[in-house]
Amino acid sequence: MADYQLIIIGAGLSGLAAGIRAARFGLKVLIVEQHWQPGGLNSYYVRQGHLLETGLHAMTNYAPPGQKRAPLNRLFRQLRLSRRSFPTHEQICSEIVFPERTLRFSNDPELLTEEVSREFPGAADGFRRLLKTVREYDPFAPAPWRSARRFLDGVLPDGRLGDMLLLPLMVYGNSEEEDMDLGQFVIMFRAIFLEGLFRPAETIKEFLDMLMAHYTAFGGEIRFRAGVKRILRRGDRVDGVMLHNGERITAGSVLSTAGIPATADLADWKIDRSAHRGKMSFTETIYLLPGHRRTSIRNDRTIIFFNHGEYFAYRCPGEAVDPSWGVICFPGNFKGLPGTDPFQVRLTNAANYEVWKEAAPGEYEMMKERWRERSADQAGKIIGNFRQDVVYVDTFTPVTIERFTSKAGGAVYGSPVKLKDGRTPCANLFIAGTDQGYLGIVGAMLSGVTIVNRHLLRQE
Ligand SMILES: Cc1cc2nc3c(=O)[nH]c(=O)nc-3n(C[C@H](O)[C@H](O)[C@H](O)COP(=O)(O)OP(=O)(O)OC[C@H]3O[C@@H](n4cnc5c(N)ncnc54)[C@H](O)[C@@H]3O)c2cc1C
Repeated sequence: MADYQLIIIGAGLSGLAAGIRAARFGLKVLIVEQHWQPGGLNSYYVRQGHLLETGLHAMTNYAPPGQKRAPLNRLFRQLRLSRRSFPTHEQICSEIVFPERTLRFSNDPELLTEEVSREFPGAADGFRRLLKTVREYDPFAPAPWRSARRFLDGVLPDGRLGDMLLLPLMVYGNSEEEDMDLGQFVIMFRAIFLEGLFRPAETIKEFLDMLMAHYTAFGGEIRFRAGVKRILRRGDRVDGVMLHNGERITAGSVLSTAGIPATADLADWKIDRSAHRGKMSFTETIYLLPGHRRTSIRNDRTIIFFNHGEYFAYRCPGEAVDPSWGVICFPGNFKGLPGTDPFQVRLTNAANYEVWKEAAPGEYEMMKERWRERSADQAGKIIGNFRQDVVYVDTFTPVTIERFTSKAGGAVYGSPVKLKDGRTPCANLFIAGTDQGYLGIVGAMLSGVTIVNRHLLRQE
């Protein structure tokens, strides 16, 4: 008899959610995580007494507790977590800033509609048609790839409006360069513009602690510093995993959240590497400033998506970083959050993994400093000079992302080709998380739940 009914590779948000769902239904489950703490891309670390979140700008898919059918509340029900005892703070207002054009949006979709009519009066009808498609389209039905850019060109008379709408949707979830699949566009549009942005009242640490406690209360087991070296395969089935220390653990099924390329390597399943290689990666710099700087910088915006170029080029830059567009996030600017000291500013830019990877150790630190300056200069054009009195600064690069999550090339959003049904060539090996096609924190968790429901509970 196998040691476990299910082994889950990875204690990121998809792995934890899958674990809770499976354990809740009585499956004997083990999560194996290579690191010493959970969270994956969305984790935390402590520097100079400050807890810093690694991924969290905002959670998407906001819904107040009463809305039963909303994805966020469905997720909580599926995990048997109380949505009412999960206090949240909605965004104040976010903004997309292009040369001579701005669009504000909040968790009330009407604001974006009004802003589109104000900046692009001739596009009001087209935008209404776009909204209709977004509401009616089924992004989860099996369908060939369709170009979101071509769709936007067909409904909107002004290409700049399409570019402005694409910036937040791409930077928060698109693994392809230049264009995105229409289904993915619809998922992200609903998650960000129709449902909206929020954050938990506490930090990602308390959220992860809550998920861990819930998982273990259902009898789920977890092992940290337990990296999987191989998925044990026999023909078109798998028997379990072998850890880096040589230990073998057997299981009826294996669910991997390590992404398609890493899982294919572990299970010796042949894939077309070039098709699965995500190129989009990022640098992010966290600045901590004295609390009183909040009012002198911005206290009326949660996130600013900016682009200084004439067109928006979502692609891997030729140099280490592309500072000409990016995201400025103020994690302290959510409705009802008490003013924090220090005040945090996060700055995200597209980055080139190869350039960072090739840097020698001393050069790597110098590159960080150099690009930090250039990137802050560009962001400063929008929020002014925010670099006086910096208490603490830290930058992570595509190499950091690869080191901490095993995502090849630091590709945050995984493979451009997704496995929407979570199936692999091995009958009892499944994929969940980013490479199944749901994105962000809420998406990753929904993915974990969906794959367990679809493939693992039905077998029992
Ligand atoms: C800079 C940045 C900012 C982001 N901002 C936001 C945001 O504001 N809002 C939002 O909703 N989303 C955001 N995201 C995206 C979000 O973090 C991810 O979509 C989500 O966390 C993915 O979860 P996952 O479980 O699918 O994958 P991961 O978090 O990558 O989890 C996979 C886990 O598997 C483990 N693993 C891999 N290989 C092995 C192995 N061989 N053996 C054992 N364990 C293994 C890894 O260590 C990792 O813990 C951001 C991401 C980044 C990088």
